[in-house]
Amino acid sequence: MKKIILSVAFAGLSLFYEAAGQITPAEKGMNSITPDVLKSQTGFLASDWTEGRRAGEKGEYLAADYIAAILQLYGIKPGGDYSGSGGYLNIQRGNERTYFQNFVLLKTTPGEEHLMKIKTIDGSVIKTASFTYNTDYTIRLTNNGTEVEAPVIFVGYGFKNDKIKYDDLARVEIKGKFLLKISGSPAFAREKLLPSELSASARDFIEIASSRGAAGIIEFNPASKVVGTTPVRDFMNLSPSEGRPGAGRQYSSVTLPSDKPGNDLLRIVVSAATANEILKGSGIVLDDYIRRADSNESYPVATMTGKSIYVKTSVTKEKINVRNIIGVIEGNRSDQVMVLGAHYDHMGIENGYIWNGADDNASGTAGILTLARALMETGRKPEKTIIIALWTAEEYGLLGSRYYIENLSYPVKNLKLNLNFDMISRYISDNEKNKVIMTYTESYPLFRKITEENLSKYGIDLEIEYQPSADPPGGSDHRSFVAAGVPVLRFKPGHREEYHTPADEISTLDWDIMEKIVRISFADIWELSEREW
Ligand SMILES: [Zn+2]
Repeated sequence: MKKIILSVAFAGLSLFYEAAGQITPAEKGMNSITPDVLKSQTGFLASDWTEGRRAGEKGEYLAADYIAAILQLYGIKPGGDYSGSGGYLNIQRGNERTYFQNFVLLKTTPGEEHLMKIKTIDGSVIKTASFTYNTDYTIRLTNNGTEVEAPVIFVGYGFKNDKIKYDDLARVEIKGKFLLKISGSPAFAREKLLPSELSASARDFIEIASSRGAAGIIEFNPASKVVGTTPVRDFMNLSPSEGRPGAGRQYSSVTLPSDKPGNDLLRIVVSAATANEILKGSGIVLDDYIRRADSNESYPVATMTGKSIYVKTSVTKEKINVRNIIGVIEGNRSDQVMVLGAHYDHMGIENGYIWNGADDNASGTAGILTLARALMETGRKPEKTIIIALWTAEEYGLLGSRYYIENLSYPVKNLKLNLNFDMISRYISDNEKNKVIMTYTESYPLFRKITEENLSKYGIDLEIEYQPSADPPGGSDHRSFVAAGVPVLRFKPGHREEYHTPADEISTLDWDIMEKIVRISFADIWELSEREW
Protein backbone atom coordinates (compact mmCIF):
# COMPACT_ATOMS: atom_id res chain seq x y z
CA MET A 1 0.00 0.00 0.00
CA LYS A 2 2.76 2.34 0.95
CA LYS A 3 4.45 1.75 -2.37
CA ILE A 4 1.37 2.75 -4.38
CA ILE A 5 0.92 5.98 -2.51
CA LEU A 6 4.54 6.85 -3.05
CA SER A 7 4.51 6.20 -6.78
CA VAL A 8 1.32 8.20 -7.25
CA ALA A 9 2.89 11.05 -5.37
CA PHE A 10 6.01 10.71 -7.47
CA ALA A 11 4.09 10.75 -10.76
CA GLY A 12 2.20 13.79 -9.54
CA LEU A 13 5.42 15.51 -8.71
CA SER A 14 7.01 14.99 -12.09
CA LEU A 15 3.83 16.16 -13.82
CA PHE A 16 3.92 19.25 -11.70
CA TYR A 17 7.49 19.99 -12.66
CA GLU A 18 6.82 19.50 -16.33
CA ALA A 19 3.73 21.64 -16.18
CA ALA A 20 5.64 24.35 -14.42
CA GLY A 21 8.29 24.17 -17.11
CA GLN A 22 10.96 23.58 -14.56
CA ILE A 23 12.72 20.36 -15.37
CA THR A 24 11.86 17.63 -17.86
CA PRO A 25 12.64 13.92 -17.36
CA ALA A 26 15.34 14.21 -20.02
CA GLU A 27 16.93 17.13 -18.19
CA LYS A 28 16.88 15.17 -14.96
CA GLY A 29 18.72 12.36 -16.69
CA MET A 30 21.17 14.76 -18.26
CA ASN A 31 21.93 16.38 -14.89
CA SER A 32 23.02 13.02 -13.49
CA ILE A 33 25.85 12.70 -16.04
CA THR A 34 28.86 14.20 -14.31
CA PRO A 35 32.63 13.74 -14.55
CA ASP A 36 32.64 12.32 -11.01
CA VAL A 37 30.32 9.46 -11.96
CA LEU A 38 32.48 8.61 -14.96
CA LYS A 39 35.75 8.96 -13.06
CA SER A 40 34.75 6.80 -10.11
CA GLN A 41 33.55 3.92 -12.27
CA THR A 42 36.36 4.05 -14.80
CA GLY A 43 38.83 4.46 -11.94
CA PHE A 44 37.86 1.20 -10.30
CA LEU A 45 37.49 -0.77 -13.54
CA ALA A 46 40.91 0.34 -14.80
CA SER A 47 42.67 -0.19 -11.47
CA ASP A 48 45.20 -2.96 -10.87
CA TRP A 49 42.59 -4.74 -8.72
CA THR A 50 40.86 -5.99 -11.86
CA GLU A 51 44.16 -7.34 -13.24
CA GLY A 52 43.45 -6.33 -16.82
CA ARG A 53 40.03 -8.06 -16.89
CA ARG A 54 40.94 -10.95 -19.15
CA ALA A 55 37.81 -12.96 -20.00
CA GLY A 56 37.20 -15.77 -17.53
CA GLU A 57 39.93 -14.75 -15.10
CA LYS A 58 39.62 -13.53 -11.54
CA GLY A 59 40.01 -9.83 -12.33
CA GLU A 60 37.24 -9.97 -14.90
CA TYR A 61 34.93 -11.75 -12.44
CA LEU A 62 35.67 -9.02 -9.92
CA ALA A 63 34.87 -6.34 -12.51
CA ALA A 64 31.64 -8.14 -13.44
CA ASP A 65 30.48 -8.28 -9.83
CA TYR A 66 31.23 -4.59 -9.47
CA ILE A 67 29.22 -3.81 -12.62
CA ALA A 68 26.27 -5.92 -11.42
CA ALA A 69 26.37 -4.14 -8.05
CA ILE A 70 26.28 -0.76 -9.78
CA LEU A 71 23.29 -1.81 -11.91
CA GLN A 72 21.49 -2.94 -8.76
CA LEU A 73 22.35 0.32 -7.03
CA TYR A 74 20.84 2.25 -9.94
CA GLY A 75 17.63 0.23 -9.69
CA ILE A 76 18.06 -1.60 -12.99
CA LYS A 77 16.46 -5.03 -13.07
CA PRO A 78 18.57 -8.12 -13.72
CA GLY A 79 18.11 -9.62 -17.19
CA GLY A 80 20.48 -12.58 -17.10
CA ASP A 81 20.13 -16.28 -16.22
CA TYR A 82 17.71 -17.46 -13.57
CA SER A 83 19.21 -18.05 -10.16
CA GLY A 84 20.06 -21.57 -9.11
CA SER A 85 19.91 -22.98 -12.62
CA GLY A 86 22.36 -25.77 -13.38
CA GLY A 87 25.68 -25.93 -11.58
CA TYR A 88 27.20 -28.88 -9.77
CA LEU A 89 24.76 -28.58 -6.88
CA ASN A 90 21.95 -29.13 -9.38
CA ILE A 91 19.72 -26.63 -7.62
CA GLN A 92 16.25 -26.20 -9.08
CA ARG A 93 15.79 -23.19 -11.28
CA GLY A 94 14.69 -20.23 -9.22
CA ASN A 95 12.23 -17.56 -10.22
CA GLU A 96 14.68 -14.73 -9.81
CA ARG A 97 16.87 -13.54 -12.62
CA THR A 98 20.50 -12.69 -11.97
CA TYR A 99 22.59 -10.08 -13.80
CA PHE A 100 24.75 -12.76 -15.41
CA GLN A 101 24.42 -14.59 -18.68
CA ASN A 102 26.78 -17.55 -18.23
CA PHE A 103 28.37 -19.45 -21.07
CA VAL A 104 31.48 -21.39 -22.00
CA LEU A 105 34.34 -20.59 -24.37
CA LEU A 106 36.86 -23.04 -25.75
CA LYS A 107 40.51 -22.15 -25.61
CA THR A 108 42.77 -24.08 -27.97
CA THR A 109 46.53 -23.98 -27.37
CA PRO A 110 49.39 -25.85 -29.03
CA GLY A 111 49.85 -29.15 -27.20
CA GLU A 112 53.04 -30.83 -26.04
CA GLU A 113 53.60 -33.22 -28.91
CA HIS A 114 54.91 -31.97 -32.27
CA LEU A 115 56.97 -33.85 -34.80
CA MET A 116 58.18 -33.02 -38.27
CA LYS A 117 60.35 -35.37 -40.28
CA ILE A 118 61.54 -35.32 -43.83
CA LYS A 119 61.88 -38.53 -45.81
CA THR A 120 64.20 -38.81 -48.77
CA ILE A 121 64.16 -41.87 -50.97
CA ASP A 122 67.61 -42.37 -52.43
CA GLY A 123 67.55 -45.57 -54.44
CA SER A 124 66.61 -48.25 -51.95
CA VAL A 125 67.66 -46.13 -48.97
CA ILE A 126 65.08 -44.12 -47.09
CA LYS A 127 66.64 -41.30 -45.08
CA THR A 128 64.71 -39.56 -42.33
CA ALA A 129 65.67 -36.26 -40.72
CA SER A 130 63.84 -34.63 -37.82
CA PHE A 131 63.37 -30.95 -37.12
CA THR A 132 62.99 -28.96 -33.92
CA TYR A 133 59.61 -27.47 -33.12
CA ASN A 134 59.51 -23.71 -32.66
CA THR A 135 63.00 -23.26 -34.15
CA ASP A 136 63.18 -25.14 -37.48
CA TYR A 137 59.43 -25.15 -37.93
CA THR A 138 56.24 -24.07 -36.27
CA ILE A 139 52.66 -25.04 -36.89
CA ARG A 140 49.74 -22.67 -36.97
CA LEU A 141 47.09 -23.67 -34.53
CA THR A 142 44.60 -26.23 -35.83
CA ASN A 143 41.29 -27.18 -34.24
CA ASN A 144 42.41 -30.70 -33.50
CA GLY A 145 45.61 -32.64 -33.29
CA THR A 146 46.58 -34.34 -36.54
CA GLU A 147 49.07 -36.74 -38.09
CA VAL A 148 49.86 -36.88 -41.81
CA GLU A 149 52.56 -37.92 -44.27
CA ALA A 150 52.52 -36.52 -47.80
CA PRO A 151 54.84 -35.69 -50.72
CA VAL A 152 55.96 -32.07 -51.11
CA ILE A 153 55.52 -29.95 -54.20
CA PHE A 154 57.28 -26.61 -54.59
CA VAL A 155 54.86 -23.94 -55.86
CA GLY A 156 57.09 -20.85 -55.79
CA TYR A 157 55.18 -17.95 -54.27
CA GLY A 158 51.96 -19.92 -54.57
CA PHE A 159 50.61 -16.77 -56.06
CA LYS A 160 47.49 -16.35 -58.13
CA ASN A 161 45.93 -13.16 -59.39
CA ASP A 162 43.58 -12.88 -62.34
CA LYS A 163 44.19 -9.16 -62.86
CA ILE A 164 47.84 -9.66 -63.74
CA LYS A 165 47.19 -13.13 -65.18
CA TYR A 166 49.53 -14.95 -62.87
CA ASP A 167 48.87 -18.40 -61.43
CA ASP A 168 51.41 -20.62 -59.69
CA LEU A 169 48.76 -23.27 -59.17
CA ALA A 170 47.48 -23.64 -62.73
CA ARG A 171 47.54 -27.22 -64.00
CA VAL A 172 49.01 -28.44 -60.72
CA GLU A 173 47.60 -31.49 -59.02
CA ILE A 174 47.75 -30.49 -55.36
CA LYS A 175 45.43 -33.01 -53.78
CA GLY A 176 47.12 -34.91 -50.97
CA LYS A 177 50.34 -32.90 -51.23
CA PHE A 178 52.15 -30.43 -49.06
CA LEU A 179 52.60 -27.13 -50.91
CA LEU A 180 55.97 -25.59 -50.18
CA LYS A 181 55.79 -21.87 -50.84
CA ILE A 182 57.85 -18.73 -50.42
CA SER A 183 56.15 -16.17 -48.14
CA GLY A 184 54.55 -13.14 -49.71
CA SER A 185 54.27 -12.43 -53.41
CA PRO A 186 56.66 -11.85 -56.36
CA ALA A 187 58.18 -8.36 -56.55
CA PHE A 188 56.59 -7.51 -59.90
CA ALA A 189 53.13 -8.29 -58.43
CA ARG A 190 53.85 -6.07 -55.43
CA GLU A 191 54.49 -3.21 -57.84
CA LYS A 192 51.33 -3.78 -59.84
CA LEU A 193 48.81 -4.54 -57.12
CA LEU A 194 47.43 -2.80 -54.04
CA PRO A 195 48.23 -4.26 -50.60
CA SER A 196 44.56 -5.22 -50.28
CA GLU A 197 44.72 -7.11 -53.58
CA LEU A 198 47.87 -8.89 -52.45
CA SER A 199 46.29 -10.01 -49.20
CA ALA A 200 43.17 -11.14 -51.07
CA SER A 201 45.43 -13.29 -53.25
CA ALA A 202 47.08 -14.74 -50.14
CA ARG A 203 43.65 -15.66 -48.74
CA ASP A 204 42.69 -17.17 -52.09
CA PHE A 205 45.74 -19.40 -51.99
CA ILE A 206 44.74 -20.84 -48.61
CA GLU A 207 41.19 -21.28 -49.84
CA ILE A 208 42.34 -23.08 -53.01
CA ALA A 209 44.72 -25.32 -51.05
CA SER A 210 41.94 -26.24 -48.68
CA SER A 211 39.20 -26.80 -51.28
CA ARG A 212 41.44 -28.79 -53.62
CA GLY A 213 42.44 -31.12 -50.78
CA ALA A 214 46.09 -30.24 -50.19
CA ALA A 215 47.68 -31.99 -47.20
CA GLY A 216 48.89 -28.62 -45.99
CA ILE A 217 50.94 -25.52 -46.69
CA ILE A 218 54.62 -25.20 -45.79
CA GLU A 219 55.69 -21.60 -45.97
CA PHE A 220 59.08 -19.97 -45.56
CA ASN A 221 60.77 -16.61 -45.71
CA PRO A 222 64.20 -17.09 -47.34
CA ALA A 223 65.67 -14.61 -44.83
CA SER A 224 64.36 -16.21 -41.64
CA LYS A 225 66.84 -18.33 -39.76
CA VAL A 226 64.57 -19.36 -36.89
CA VAL A 227 60.79 -19.47 -36.69
CA GLY A 228 58.16 -19.59 -33.96
CA THR A 229 57.47 -17.41 -30.94
CA THR A 230 60.35 -16.35 -28.76
CA PRO A 231 59.76 -15.73 -25.06
CA VAL A 232 59.76 -12.11 -23.92
CA ARG A 233 61.14 -11.68 -20.42
CA ASP A 234 60.16 -8.93 -17.99
CA PHE A 235 63.48 -7.11 -18.18
CA MET A 236 63.24 -6.79 -21.95
CA ASN A 237 60.65 -4.02 -21.77
CA LEU A 238 62.25 -1.74 -19.23
CA SER A 239 63.62 0.84 -21.63
CA PRO A 240 61.33 3.86 -21.84
CA SER A 241 62.05 3.99 -25.56
CA GLU A 242 60.51 0.53 -26.04
CA GLY A 243 57.97 0.90 -28.79
CA ARG A 244 55.36 -1.58 -27.71
CA PRO A 245 55.95 -2.84 -24.20
CA GLY A 246 54.69 -6.28 -23.39
CA ALA A 247 54.53 -7.55 -26.95
CA GLY A 248 54.99 -11.25 -27.71
CA ARG A 249 51.87 -12.91 -26.38
CA GLN A 250 51.60 -16.67 -26.55
CA TYR A 251 49.44 -17.82 -29.41
CA SER A 252 46.17 -19.54 -28.66
CA SER A 253 42.66 -19.26 -29.97
CA VAL A 254 39.47 -18.75 -28.00
CA THR A 255 36.13 -19.41 -29.63
CA LEU A 256 32.50 -20.12 -28.92
CA PRO A 257 31.97 -23.89 -29.04
CA SER A 258 30.47 -24.93 -32.36
CA ASP A 259 28.75 -28.01 -33.72
CA LYS A 260 30.41 -27.52 -37.11
CA PRO A 261 33.80 -29.00 -38.00
CA GLY A 262 36.54 -26.39 -38.16
CA ASN A 263 38.97 -25.90 -41.02
CA ASP A 264 41.97 -28.01 -40.13
CA LEU A 265 44.29 -27.27 -43.06
CA LEU A 266 47.82 -27.68 -41.75
CA ARG A 267 49.86 -24.52 -42.11
CA ILE A 268 53.49 -24.92 -41.26
CA VAL A 269 56.12 -22.18 -41.23
CA VAL A 270 59.70 -23.35 -41.66
CA SER A 271 63.08 -21.69 -41.46
CA ALA A 272 65.12 -21.06 -44.60
CA ALA A 273 67.44 -23.94 -43.61
CA THR A 274 64.50 -26.34 -43.35
CA ALA A 275 63.16 -25.18 -46.73
CA ASN A 276 66.57 -25.70 -48.30
CA GLU A 277 66.72 -29.18 -46.81
CA ILE A 278 63.39 -29.99 -48.48
CA LEU A 279 64.55 -28.51 -51.79
CA LYS A 280 67.93 -30.27 -51.74
CA GLY A 281 68.35 -32.45 -54.80
CA SER A 282 65.20 -31.14 -56.50
CA GLY A 283 67.13 -29.05 -59.02
CA ILE A 284 65.58 -25.82 -57.79
CA VAL A 285 68.10 -23.09 -57.09
CA LEU A 286 66.18 -20.84 -54.77
CA ASP A 287 68.04 -17.55 -55.35
CA ASP A 288 67.72 -17.99 -59.08
CA TYR A 289 64.10 -18.97 -58.85
CA ILE A 290 63.23 -15.89 -56.74
CA ARG A 291 65.13 -13.56 -59.09
CA ARG A 292 63.20 -14.84 -62.09
CA ALA A 293 59.82 -14.95 -60.35
CA ASP A 294 60.29 -11.43 -58.99
CA SER A 295 60.88 -10.01 -62.44
CA ASN A 296 58.23 -12.23 -64.06
CA GLU A 297 60.97 -13.43 -66.37
CA SER A 298 59.62 -16.86 -67.07
CA TYR A 299 56.49 -18.59 -65.92
CA PRO A 300 57.35 -20.59 -62.83
CA VAL A 301 56.21 -24.19 -62.85
CA ALA A 302 55.43 -26.22 -59.77
CA THR A 303 58.03 -28.91 -59.12
CA MET A 304 57.96 -32.15 -57.15
CA THR A 305 60.73 -32.11 -54.58
CA GLY A 306 61.08 -35.89 -54.31
CA LYS A 307 60.58 -35.58 -50.56
CA SER A 308 57.84 -36.51 -48.15
CA ILE A 309 57.04 -34.73 -44.95
CA TYR A 310 55.61 -36.43 -41.89
CA VAL A 311 53.90 -34.15 -39.38
CA LYS A 312 52.28 -34.86 -36.08
CA THR A 313 50.81 -32.10 -33.97
CA SER A 314 48.59 -31.83 -30.94
CA VAL A 315 46.43 -29.23 -29.27
CA THR A 316 45.02 -28.85 -25.78
CA LYS A 317 41.56 -27.52 -25.10
CA GLU A 318 40.34 -25.77 -22.04
CA LYS A 319 36.86 -24.59 -21.15
CA ILE A 320 36.56 -21.02 -19.90
CA ASN A 321 33.48 -19.93 -17.97
CA VAL A 322 32.52 -16.37 -18.81
CA ARG A 323 29.64 -13.99 -18.15
CA ASN A 324 27.88 -11.19 -19.93
CA ILE A 325 26.15 -8.78 -17.57
CA ILE A 326 22.59 -7.97 -18.55
CA GLY A 327 20.23 -5.42 -17.01
CA VAL A 328 16.77 -4.37 -18.20
CA ILE A 329 14.87 -1.11 -18.08
CA GLU A 330 11.40 -2.26 -19.01
CA GLY A 331 9.57 0.09 -21.31
CA ASN A 332 5.90 0.39 -22.19
CA ARG A 333 6.69 -1.60 -25.31
CA SER A 334 8.22 -5.01 -24.72
CA ASP A 335 8.26 -5.72 -28.47
CA GLN A 336 10.68 -2.85 -29.16
CA VAL A 337 14.10 -3.29 -27.66
CA MET A 338 17.28 -1.20 -27.75
CA VAL A 339 20.54 -2.75 -26.53
CA LEU A 340 23.13 -0.38 -25.07
CA GLY A 341 26.39 -2.25 -24.83
CA ALA A 342 30.13 -2.11 -24.15
CA HIS A 343 32.70 -4.80 -23.53
CA TYR A 344 34.21 -4.86 -20.05
CA ASP A 345 36.95 -7.43 -20.70
CA HIS A 346 40.49 -6.58 -21.73
CA MET A 347 43.86 -8.29 -22.21
CA GLY A 348 44.79 -9.35 -18.66
CA ILE A 349 48.39 -9.60 -17.47
CA GLU A 350 51.15 -10.22 -19.96
CA ASN A 351 54.89 -10.49 -19.35
CA GLY A 352 54.51 -9.00 -15.90
CA TYR A 353 52.49 -5.99 -17.02
CA ILE A 354 48.88 -5.39 -16.09
CA TRP A 355 47.07 -4.17 -19.18
CA ASN A 356 44.58 -1.89 -17.44
CA GLY A 357 42.58 -1.08 -20.55
CA ALA A 358 41.39 2.30 -19.27
CA ASP A 359 40.20 3.57 -22.62
CA ASP A 360 39.67 0.03 -23.95
CA ASN A 361 37.17 -0.40 -22.50
CA ALA A 362 36.76 0.72 -18.90
CA SER A 363 35.69 4.00 -20.51
CA GLY A 364 32.90 2.46 -22.59
CA THR A 365 31.73 0.33 -19.65
CA ALA A 366 31.51 3.37 -17.37
CA GLY A 367 29.83 5.23 -20.23
CA ILE A 368 27.06 2.63 -20.52
CA LEU A 369 26.61 2.47 -16.73
CA THR A 370 26.33 6.25 -16.56
CA LEU A 371 23.88 6.24 -19.44
CA ALA A 372 21.82 3.60 -17.61
CA ARG A 373 21.84 5.74 -14.50
CA ALA A 374 20.66 8.77 -16.45
CA LEU A 375 17.77 6.76 -17.94
CA MET A 376 16.68 5.76 -14.42
CA GLU A 377 17.11 9.33 -13.15
CA THR A 378 14.52 10.58 -15.65
CA GLY A 379 11.99 9.05 -13.23
CA ARG A 380 9.90 7.93 -16.16
CA LYS A 381 9.36 4.52 -17.69
CA PRO A 382 10.79 4.63 -21.20
CA GLU A 383 8.58 3.86 -24.16
CA LYS A 384 10.87 1.17 -25.62
CA THR A 385 12.52 -1.52 -23.52
CA ILE A 386 16.20 -0.85 -22.93
CA ILE A 387 18.76 -3.59 -22.30
CA ILE A 388 21.99 -2.65 -20.57
CA ALA A 389 24.66 -5.11 -21.67
CA LEU A 390 28.30 -5.37 -20.67
CA TRP A 391 30.00 -7.92 -22.86
CA THR A 392 32.74 -10.35 -21.99
CA ALA A 393 35.38 -11.73 -24.40
CA GLU A 394 35.32 -8.96 -26.98
CA GLU A 395 39.09 -9.13 -27.13
CA TYR A 396 38.86 -12.80 -28.16
CA GLY A 397 36.71 -11.84 -31.16
CA LEU A 398 33.39 -10.26 -30.08
CA LEU A 399 32.38 -13.50 -28.41
CA GLY A 400 30.14 -12.09 -25.66
CA SER A 401 27.98 -10.02 -27.99
CA ARG A 402 27.85 -12.88 -30.49
CA TYR A 403 26.68 -15.28 -27.82
CA TYR A 404 23.98 -12.81 -26.79
CA ILE A 405 22.63 -12.31 -30.29
CA GLU A 406 22.72 -16.03 -31.04
CA ASN A 407 20.77 -16.81 -27.87
CA LEU A 408 18.14 -14.07 -27.78
CA SER A 409 15.18 -14.61 -25.49
CA TYR A 410 13.01 -12.49 -27.81
CA PRO A 411 12.60 -12.30 -31.61
CA VAL A 412 15.48 -10.52 -33.36
CA LYS A 413 12.97 -8.34 -35.23
CA ASN A 414 12.16 -6.67 -31.90
CA LEU A 415 15.72 -5.36 -31.76
CA LYS A 416 15.54 -1.78 -32.98
CA LEU A 417 19.04 -0.61 -32.17
CA ASN A 418 22.43 -1.43 -30.73
CA LEU A 419 24.42 1.45 -29.32
CA ASN A 420 28.05 0.43 -28.82
CA PHE A 421 30.71 2.19 -26.77
CA ASP A 422 34.26 0.99 -27.28
CA MET A 423 37.01 3.42 -26.29
CA ILE A 424 35.25 6.74 -25.75
CA SER A 425 37.85 8.65 -23.78
CA ARG A 426 40.76 9.47 -26.09
CA TYR A 427 40.45 12.27 -28.58
CA ILE A 428 41.48 11.67 -32.18
CA SER A 429 44.57 13.89 -32.16
CA ASP A 430 46.02 16.83 -30.29
CA ASN A 431 44.60 19.27 -32.84
CA GLU A 432 41.18 17.62 -32.86
CA LYS A 433 40.32 17.40 -29.18
CA ASN A 434 36.63 17.88 -29.72
CA LYS A 435 36.00 15.52 -32.58
CA VAL A 436 34.03 12.30 -32.57
CA ILE A 437 33.12 9.86 -35.32
CA MET A 438 29.53 8.68 -35.40
CA THR A 439 29.16 5.40 -37.29
CA TYR A 440 25.61 4.29 -38.01
CA THR A 441 23.41 2.23 -40.29
CA GLU A 442 22.87 4.41 -43.33
CA SER A 443 19.21 3.49 -43.83
CA TYR A 444 18.47 5.42 -40.62
CA PRO A 445 19.24 9.08 -41.42
CA LEU A 446 17.06 9.81 -38.39
CA PHE A 447 20.07 8.96 -36.19
CA ARG A 448 22.01 11.86 -37.65
CA LYS A 449 19.03 14.21 -37.59
CA ILE A 450 18.26 13.73 -33.90
CA THR A 451 21.97 13.89 -33.03
CA GLU A 452 22.23 17.28 -34.71
CA GLU A 453 19.07 18.46 -32.97
CA ASN A 454 20.21 17.21 -29.58
CA LEU A 455 23.65 18.82 -29.84
CA SER A 456 22.03 22.21 -30.09
CA LYS A 457 19.08 21.47 -27.78
CA TYR A 458 21.39 20.49 -24.90
CA GLY A 459 24.26 22.78 -25.83
CA ILE A 460 26.78 19.95 -26.26
CA ASP A 461 29.89 21.37 -27.90
CA LEU A 462 31.07 18.42 -29.97
CA GLU A 463 32.26 18.19 -33.55
CA ILE A 464 30.86 15.07 -35.19
CA GLU A 465 32.03 13.40 -38.35
CA TYR A 466 29.06 11.37 -39.58
CA GLN A 467 29.90 8.03 -41.17
CA PRO A 468 26.76 6.31 -42.40
CA SER A 469 27.33 2.85 -43.83
CA ALA A 470 25.29 -0.08 -45.12
CA ASP A 471 27.80 -2.28 -43.30
CA PRO A 472 29.06 -0.18 -40.38
CA PRO A 473 32.75 -1.00 -39.94
CA GLY A 474 34.99 -1.30 -36.88
CA GLY A 475 36.19 -4.35 -34.99
CA SER A 476 33.89 -4.13 -32.02
CA ASP A 477 30.68 -5.61 -30.65
CA HIS A 478 28.31 -3.65 -32.90
CA ARG A 479 29.52 -6.00 -35.66
CA SER A 480 27.65 -8.87 -33.98
CA PHE A 481 24.46 -6.83 -34.36
CA VAL A 482 25.28 -5.72 -37.91
CA ALA A 483 25.64 -9.41 -38.80
CA ALA A 484 22.13 -10.03 -37.45
CA GLY A 485 20.69 -7.13 -39.46
CA VAL A 486 20.17 -4.85 -36.45
CA PRO A 487 20.63 -1.06 -36.89
CA VAL A 488 23.66 0.22 -35.01
CA LEU A 489 24.98 3.49 -33.68
CA ARG A 490 28.47 4.10 -32.36
CA PHE A 491 30.32 7.15 -31.08
CA LYS A 492 34.08 6.97 -30.97
CA PRO A 493 36.87 9.52 -30.92
CA GLY A 494 40.16 7.86 -31.90
CA HIS A 495 42.67 5.08 -31.56
CA ARG A 496 45.76 6.37 -29.83
CA GLU A 497 49.29 5.15 -29.39
CA GLU A 498 48.45 3.49 -26.05
CA TYR A 499 45.92 1.22 -27.75
CA HIS A 500 46.47 -2.44 -26.81
CA THR A 501 49.53 -1.79 -24.70
CA PRO A 502 49.99 -1.72 -20.92
CA ALA A 503 50.21 2.08 -21.30
CA ASP A 504 46.43 2.35 -21.75
CA GLU A 505 46.16 3.85 -18.28
CA ILE A 506 43.64 6.10 -16.59
CA SER A 507 46.06 9.05 -16.60
CA THR A 508 45.76 9.30 -20.40
CA LEU A 509 41.97 9.72 -20.47
CA ASP A 510 40.11 12.84 -21.49
CA TRP A 511 37.04 13.18 -19.27
CA ASP A 512 35.66 16.06 -21.27
CA ILE A 513 35.14 14.15 -24.51
CA MET A 514 33.88 11.12 -22.62
CA GLU A 515 31.23 13.16 -20.81
CA LYS A 516 30.10 14.76 -24.06
CA ILE A 517 29.77 11.37 -25.75
CA VAL A 518 27.66 10.04 -22.88
CA ARG A 519 25.50 13.19 -22.96
CA ILE A 520 24.74 13.09 -26.67
CA SER A 521 24.16 9.33 -26.46
CA PHE A 522 21.73 9.75 -23.58
CA ALA A 523 19.83 12.47 -25.47
CA ASP A 524 19.66 10.29 -28.60
CA ILE A 525 18.61 7.13 -26.75
CA TRP A 526 15.94 8.97 -24.80
CA GLU A 527 14.58 10.46 -28.01
CA LEU A 528 14.74 7.12 -29.87
CA SER A 529 12.94 5.46 -26.98
CA GLU A 530 10.15 8.03 -26.85
CA ARG A 531 9.34 8.48 -30.50
CA GLU A 532 7.95 6.02 -33.02
CA TRP A 533 10.37 5.24 -35.88
ZN1 LIG B 1 37.81 -2.55 -27.14
